[in-house]
Parts: sequence; structure tokens; C-alpha cells
Amino acid sequence: MKRQLAILGSTGSIGTQALDVVRQHPDKLGVYALTANNQVDLLIRQAREFQPEVVVIANESKYMLLKEALADLPLKVWAGSEAIAQVVENEAIDMVLTAMVGYAGLKPTIHAIKAGKAIALANKETLVIAGELITKLAREHKSPIIPVDSEHSAIFQCLTGENSAIDKILLTASGGPFRTFTKEQLRHATSKEALKHPNWNMGAKVTIDSASMMNKGFEMIEAKWLFGVSPEQIQVLVHPQSIVHSMVQFEDMSVKAQLGVPDMRLPIQYALNYPERLKSDFQAIDWQKFSSLTFEEPDMEKFRNLGFAFEAIRRGGNMPCILNAANEIVVAAFLENRIGFLEMSDVLEKTMQSIPFIASPTYDDLLETDKITRENVIRNL
Ligand code: MG
Repeated sequence: MKRQLAILGSTGSIGTQALDVVRQHPDKLGVYALTANNQVDLLIRQAREFQPEVVVIANESKYMLLKEALADLPLKVWAGSEAIAQVVENEAIDMVLTAMVGYAGLKPTIHAIKAGKAIALANKETLVIAGELITKLAREHKSPIIPVDSEHSAIFQCLTGENSAIDKILLTASGGPFRTFTKEQLRHATSKEALKHPNWNMGAKVTIDSASMMNKGFEMIEAKWLFGVSPEQIQVLVHPQSIVHSMVQFEDMSVKAQLGVPDMRLPIQYALNYPERLKSDFQAIDWQKFSSLTFEEPDMEKFRNLGFAFEAIRRGGNMPCILNAANEIVVAAFLENRIGFLEMSDVLEKTMQSIPFIASPTYDDLLETDKITRENVIRNL
């Protein structure tokens, strides 16, 4: 029996790499649904190749184009974000890969969990915004969450077969393209420079988040919810080679690590086939090339976003949602060269102080927080 997948965000970096994994294991994985935000041409090509039952385009203005291009195939074509939230509930789906960018991942993930689907979670913003709500729902509906983020996949793999308590999570970070930059260099850093990640091939938003270390901050929040640890139990280690994808220290001080060449297809393939490991043609580690692996403390003064993430975890409530919404706006502004690299952090700090804090937010409170935070940041840019 093939595992039937819904791939949300199939035209993005994770989505296309996931389809590469499907391509290599057609006997194990089937595609029931593909959804994309905007890239209709690629979605058409993917639909022709993988022949899913349903394709959905979030941008409704592209619906007719998609529908006409696929008119000769026996598949359903839907449009709009509501349709994405509906499609994941289909009985035939075993697992939903949430690979869309940002806040858009929240609603369909909730629908998929309520329908009892296994979640291959690539959209970390879902846990950043609503970690408490999502993990509670997943427990209630017995919906397993398998992380796709490379660090969390590593931690998950280290914990497989363990029943003992975690002493500490050692979350590794490449340090991004600006690891060795001075504050003055950071001030003048451009989006073009920020998009050149030294090790990982990822989408634009997460690559900018890597350069600013916001990504690592969000990953701390993600780790808290996935593995039930406190912020004090998470140590960020800068590891420029990106070979150790993260580690777990147990109470006996034994440390387990997961290693591999940085290639997102590895954690994607692991999640899509969990608990089975499948043979792959991915590159093996060349120990001559990586004969020395280094680890250092992150520079919290240069990369202030890490501190903001700590503060957001400590305060809880809607604070991570505020940080996420503000970050989505400043990253978009930085990509359009409308604000400088360091200004992104200045805006985040100000926004965390100005949006009303809610200690125990409901889902509707989070929607409202997201909305007013975005409006506030846009107004003040
Ligand atoms: Mg990661």
C-alpha cells in the first residue's frame, strides 16, 4: 500500500524536493493532492507528472488558467485558501506535508489534525504562532507530527527508541551568510547577500530568517512544542559546517547526534516514510572534506533576534504570534530593499512592546493578533 500524500506548497523549495523524493519511491508514495500559492505554471507541470486527484491554487485569479490547462486530465481543480483547508480532510489522505510559507500554514494544519492525518511538518510558523493549540489538538486527535525541519528531524531521530527524559537539546545553526560580519557590515548587508546561504538550499523567506538568526529563534520555539522542553533546556550552537543537524543530551550526560550532508531531501524522505528508512542516492559524508567540525556560542549582541525569541518563549501567550507576524512583514520589506538588515530587528523589538499582550489566547485571539500586528508594522515602516 502506498502512503497517500497531500503536499501543501508543492511549488516551493520543500515541495519540489518532496516531489523529488516521491519520484524516487513511486512504489511507496502516492500524491493525492497538490496545492500552491501562486506558481501556476509549475503546478500544471507537477499535476501532469504526478496525476493527483485534486490540485488547488490559493490565488483565485489563476483558477481559470489552471482549470483550462488541466482540462484533459481526470482531476479536480479548486481555488482559494478555504479549498486548501478542505482538501486535507479527504479520507484517502494518509499524510499532509505542510510546506507552505508563514502564517498561511496554520489553518490547513488544524483541519488536517482534526481529520486525524499524520503531519509532516515543514511550516515551522504553525508551531511558532500556535504551538500550544496545535500540540494539544494533535494529542486529542492522535495525529502524529513528524518534523521536516532538519534540526528537529535530527532531534526526533535521536529520540527514537528512547524513553528517558531529555536533559538538553543542542540546536545547531550554520550561522548563515553573515556569521563573520561585523555590526557595521551587517548595517549595509543587502538582500542579495542574505540570499546566498553557505550550506542549505531553501526558499527566500527562511534564507533571510537564517541570515538574521530569526530562523534559529523560531526553531527554539518549535523545539519547545515538539519535544516538551523549557527554553533553558535548549542551547544554540553555531556549527558552520552543517554536518551535525542537532543533538540531544540525556540525563546521564550521554549525547546523541544525527549527521549528514546538508540536503533537505534527507529529512523530507525520513518524515514521509517514517518509521521506515529508504535507500537513497543522497551524498554520503566525505570525512576528508569534513575532518574538522567546529562549534561556537552564537553572538546574541549581533543577532538580537535570538534574544527576542527567548523573550517570546518566556512570555508565551500571543507573543510568538506577534514576533512571527512582524517578522513576515519586515522580511518582505527587506527583500524589496525597503529597510536595512539591522532595522528588521529594531522593528521587531518595538512591535513586541506595542501590541497588546494576551496570556492565554484563543484561536480567534491569534488571528486578531496576527492581523493587528501586520497592520501596525506596515503603518510604521
Ligand atoms: Mg532548520
